[in-house]
Amino acid sequence: MDARIIPSEAFGIVIGDAHIIRNAGGSAKEGLRSILVSQQLLGTQEIVIIKHTGCGMLTFTNEEAHAVVSKKLGPTAAAEIATLDFLPISDPEQAVRDDIEFLQKQSAIPKDIHISGWVYEVETGRVRHIE
Ligand SMILES: [Zn+2]
Repeated sequence: MDARIIPSEAFGIVIGDAHIIRNAGGSAKEGLRSILVSQQLLGTQEIVIIKHTGCGMLTFTNEEAHAVVSKKLGPTAAAEIATLDFLPISDPEQAVRDDIEFLQKQSAIPKDIHISGWVYEVETGRVRHIE
């Protein structure tokens, strides 16, 4: 979701190469619906998880996010999203590993689908492969 990252420029992707599923924190959990549509209905064969340094999702906890919503939008809005997990992260590399594990546990993701994880360094424009 980060506005500093333009996938076509950062990763050399051109029109027709890939489905880009973006969300706050690059969450596979949040993206699962789109991942399944991409694979099962549209035939993609690989999943590449990319998170990045300097991510806003590193800067708050679930409790802090809920407190901000409550303060800004009031108790009705706060109650409506009381069980929402904002999916904050504390370490991009570990979050990539967690998402890979999450996807590997999904019966809806076939075992022959290649999944890789990367961290994009906004400071340098380089990507690190996460084992
Ligand atoms: Zn981010």
